[in-house]
Amino acid sequence: MTFLCGVARLNVRNSVRISANQEELVTEPLLLHHLKRNKLKVVAIDGDLSVVHQDSVQFDSELPEFRTQGGVHIHADKLTVTSPVLMWVKALDLLLDKMKRASFTFSQVIALSGSGQQHGSVFWKKGAAQTLAQLDPGQHLSQQLQDSFSVQDSPVWMDSSSSQQCQDLQKAAGGAMRLAEITGSRAYERFTGNQISKLQQIRADLFQQTERISLVSSFAASLFLGGYAAIDYSDGSGMNLLDIQAKSWSQICLEATAPNLDQLLGAPLPSASVLGPVSSYFVHRYGFSESCRVVAFTGDNPASLAGMRLHQGDVAVSLGTSDTVFLWLQEPQPALEGHIFCNPVELQAYMALLCFKNGSLTRERIRNQCAAGSWEDFSDALRETPIGNNRNIGFYFDTMEITPPAVGVHRFDPNDCEVSGWSPKVEVRALVEGQFLSRRLHAERLGYSIIPGTRVLATGGASANKQILQVLSDVFDAPVYTIDLSNSACLGSAYRALHGLVAETGVSFLDVVKKAPEPQLVCTPNPAAQQVYDQMLKRFPQLEERVLQKTYA
Ligand code: ADP
Repeated sequence: MTFLCGVARLNVRNSVRISANQEELVTEPLLLHHLKRNKLKVVAIDGDLSVVHQDSVQFDSELPEFRTQGGVHIHADKLTVTSPVLMWVKALDLLLDKMKRASFTFSQVIALSGSGQQHGSVFWKKGAAQTLAQLDPGQHLSQQLQDSFSVQDSPVWMDSSSSQQCQDLQKAAGGAMRLAEITGSRAYERFTGNQISKLQQIRADLFQQTERISLVSSFAASLFLGGYAAIDYSDGSGMNLLDIQAKSWSQICLEATAPNLDQLLGAPLPSASVLGPVSSYFVHRYGFSESCRVVAFTGDNPASLAGMRLHQGDVAVSLGTSDTVFLWLQEPQPALEGHIFCNPVELQAYMALLCFKNGSLTRERIRNQCAAGSWEDFSDALRETPIGNNRNIGFYFDTMEITPPAVGVHRFDPNDCEVSGWSPKVEVRALVEGQFLSRRLHAERLGYSIIPGTRVLATGGASANKQILQVLSDVFDAPVYTIDLSNSACLGSAYRALHGLVAETGVSFLDVVKKAPEPQLVCTPNPAAQQVYDQMLKRFPQLEERVLQKTYA
């Protein structure tokens, strides 16, 4: 038995930084951390969850005619960032042809699902539904879908050109906080609703020709389905349009965005929904079984959560260039920072994402200044200083931070008085403790709580450092495990395909994936840590407030 995950994972973390808009500059790296989104990838697993096939198509090098860099076009205004939609279609043609040449047995695939970069959108032209339903198996998809899009260049997650629409939406919703309460996030330029609103205002002609709007995920599912696929709740939460509690489009947001939008979007569905059988095009061209099911596709971040097999109480911390925190939430508390999405694997639950811009680069700076540029010396400093750092607390925001939006280095002594410096070893511990206290505080503000059985799953470059992970374990008072995230969105999609087949019978996602490889236990919390950090967490928010006041003074 084989499961296919047809995944549209697009665009990149490349070296481009969008720099024109202060607000977006602060928020933009949110999704950068582990997503190398410049390719389309496939992973097939068998009934034991073992990977039996993988392949990929790199946009820039294998589809050079589209002239993308990192899968995208950055326009002259530096704010508008798009990807050619036909490039994505052609990448799927190429990928399936590669699999055929590798004698992949399509006939054994019993279900498929996938993920796409969050926020990107596809505008289908009037008549496209008919084309999708009557695809000729003798031709490639890209030949037949050339005239199916009213917008050739799809807005993608790196776009930050819709500031005005963000302001308008927040105003219509009753403010940024109210919008966050409804949709899980305040208004963000890249979020799809604001992109739709912009298109409707500046290219009303193209908007008029549009019969359906998909996310990248539901667009890819539509190709397999031979008809328009529903947007799933989880990826739909990245649009500033979905009421994440009611799980339906928010009327206020729809009306503030564009006319007739509910018709153009179609009704959203639970992420584990079976959308239908694969279209006859794939049966006849590649030999898929007629009974192969297409399970709703979702966003790459939700798919990663599935790939990591996060469950209640867990937190995943990616320690890369910037640090990102993924949370499993039961009772979300939307805020002006971070993003809350419907959970892709459990209907009643939620997930959240938080991004911290000052991660590894700041740790490297302190390593260079205080530990002779050596991670070993840096680790020794952590080993040789006490838990709680004798009540010294530091904030290290070398560049304008996202969470919280503050800047500068601020050191507080045990009496909460600001001081100008510490010994190198104290500085090293203050940095790492300060970073992890902040990760915990902001996670808890979104509704996260540590429970018995909580695990911290660590990934990214700094997860190679056991002493750093020991501090993480102590601050969260939970064991830390390491995981490899490189394939998590793809694997998560394959797991979701499998779960989709049985979800209606009440079988849980975790039951379906229990045979998957376990993460590695690296450290357990020091028994003395809980009391020390509980005390520090009482002081930390007040000190952070002072840092914020200084930033905006
Ligand atoms: P990216 O966000 O670019 O994918 P990675 O997850 O690969 O980043 O992490 C790279 C970072 O990992 C480097 O900037 C480096 O500071 C950090 N790193 C690598 N090894 C160690 C170590 N032993 N201890 C702490 N940090 C480390």
